[in-house]
Amino acid sequence: MTQLNVGRWRLNCDREATQRAYKAIEIDEPEACGCSHCRNFVMVRDHVYPSDVRSLFEDLGIESCREREVYHMVQLKPGMHLYGGWLHCVGWIEGASDEFGRFDLEVSGDAAPFTFYFHDRPTLLPDSFQGLPILQFEFTAQVPWVIQETEPE
Ligand SMILES: [Zn+2]
Repeated sequence: MTQLNVGRWRLNCDREATQRAYKAIEIDEPEACGCSHCRNFVMVRDHVYPSDVRSLFEDLGIESCREREVYHMVQLKPGMHLYGGWLHCVGWIEGASDEFGRFDLEVSGDAAPFTFYFHDRPTLLPDSFQGLPILQFEFTAQVPWVIQETEPE
């Protein structure tokens, strides 16, 4: 169990348990879904996460990007879209139960259009995570539209 301070959160994380749980998942949700929103996200995924978020994932035991859900919210301007999504890891928020459910977003980086927060009410939790204490990492990101299909509005 590792203690991590991330923004206003003090987290306890079980990196090995998270890695084990992910090993049992064969395909991540955006790939499994296959709709145009998800396929577009998969194409640009490598550019979506800021480097500090990638290193946070590393600390949490989330190898590369393992979204449980990705969803399209709105077209911000032609070619640029607001997406949301979430990932799970094993751990809990230490001693901050009154904080749970608050939707304060942590902005990552200077002008980075990427926001995230943690909570402990997992949705669409994969079987391999069942019975474990779970943190859900929720994010929003600006994502360019790159696939040759009609952009959603
Ligand atoms: Zn989809």
